[in-house]
Amino acid sequence: MALDIVLCRRCQARIRWAFTPAGRRMPLDADPDPEGNVYWGPTPEDPHRLARVDRDLVAAALTGQLSGDVYMPHHATCGNPPPRGPRQPRPPKPTPPSPQLGLDLGQ
Ligand SMILES: [Zn+2]
Repeated sequence: MALDIVLCRRCQARIRWAFTPAGRRMPLDADPDPEGNVYWGPTPEDPHRLARVDRDLVAAALTGQLSGDVYMPHHATCGNPPPRGPRQPRPPKPTPPSPQLGLDLGQ
């Protein structure tokens, strides 16, 4: 079926990777879950399919107002979560300098 479903390296559960609006990857359980707190889909403001932790969007999806689905983040269900500790591979994080919003009041 969906090609984007992979196995969690830790617990072998089926998961899928979604992107958040911030461009970070978020592992979701492979199948939609109405108990989840992540809306994955487009919004009226943004046609991209992104994962958003947003109660209002979740509610809208569950009532059919949005076309996306509701998912459980895999962090919440992983059968073998990462051990506590400092070993966190740090992905390169390109942070483009955000332009300072200058006050341009026109007149
Ligand atoms: Zn897992």
